[in-house]
Amino acid sequence: MIDQAGPVSGKFEPGLVPRISELVSGRIRHGVLGSTLATFAIGGPLAALITVESPEELGAVLQALAAEGQPVRALGFGSNCLIDDCGLDQWVVRLGAGFKGLTIRDDGRVMVGAAASLMSVARKLSDEGFSGLEFAAGIPASLGGAVFMNAGAHGSELCDRIVSVQGVLPTGASATWARSELPWRYRSSGLPVGAVVTSVTLQLEPGDKAKISRICSDNLAERRARQPLALSSAGSVFKNPSPEVPAGRLLETAGLKGVRVGGAIVSELHANWIVNPERKATAADVMMLMGLCQQRVRASCGIELEPEVRLWRS
Ligand SMILES: Cc1cc2nc3c(=O)[nH]c(=O)nc-3n(C[C@H](O)[C@H](O)[C@H](O)COP(=O)(O)OP(=O)(O)OC[C@H]3O[C@@H](n4cnc5c(N)ncnc54)[C@H](O)[C@@H]3O)c2cc1C
Repeated sequence: MIDQAGPVSGKFEPGLVPRISELVSGRIRHGVLGSTLATFAIGGPLAALITVESPEELGAVLQALAAEGQPVRALGFGSNCLIDDCGLDQWVVRLGAGFKGLTIRDDGRVMVGAAASLMSVARKLSDEGFSGLEFAAGIPASLGGAVFMNAGAHGSELCDRIVSVQGVLPTGASATWARSELPWRYRSSGLPVGAVVTSVTLQLEPGDKAKISRICSDNLAERRARQPLALSSAGSVFKNPSPEVPAGRLLETAGLKGVRVGGAIVSELHANWIVNPERKATAADVMMLMGLCQQRVRASCGIELEPEVRLWRS
């Protein structure tokens, strides 16, 4: 299983809990359902959910777990994760309130913590008359998850605005990457394996408040018209093969709108969204439906769809 740009393997060792507890001021919780942490509303119990409150705590935890060869994942707002029905026999690290800081300079330089909400930050910057994050209206991401995924919409991507990314490596060391030091691609930051983003520095442009606000509203209105926002989902399930060939069009042409496996349905509104309207779908339903989508698109036009949603399994 690949995540945070690399394999996450190994088995959770419960004997380490007391030692890891001593490293964090936040709580370690056991058995929290993935379905309560992911916008898909799917997923079984997590062996350990650790909330860290500072880069130092994060560094100490990552270092201790790496030294023991323990499997660790970073969770943002869970808006791009499909968590396995049997849960995760792994450590999941989440950034606490200590990572929500936001500083906005007059020249449009913005320093923001990785646990801040991308939507809230985009709204705040729009209200203050800074342009550059209008595309983010309606993306329910944390800044850390949005950096990791290089979130984008309406022809823009987060990396367009990034000056530098701050994070912690599995060795526990802090690191800063200038924008040019990371191999940004469509829905990928290319961050080193296991690195956890702690904050990000952005550059926005001062602009006309009314115009910025109008663009945000238009983007949101377009989203509401084209996407099933009221239903549980993880947004787009597959990456677009290219900007000219959106996955949604291929799926629609292959007749997948409305196709259902268990509680998971290909949205009638947008064929690249799988929705969980009754919140009864399992990860197995979604995986089976994704496989069916890939098979039908392959058969209809020979294109192999690549998942955008991250599959979290032990
Ligand atoms: C209604 C809806 C609309 C959406 N619209 C869009 C859209 O327009 N454009 C778009 O790009 N996406 C969209 N998405 C998908 C999703 O919001 C993005 O992929 C987002 O970037 C995920 O952020 P997150 O904080 O929820 O990350 P999570 O889902 O929690 O995690 C996603 C990945 O990021 C990693 N990660 C999370 N936090 C960190 C961190 N601090 N450091 C390192 N790695 C981390 C995780 O390990 C995981 O691999 C949408 C989703 C929904 C539900």
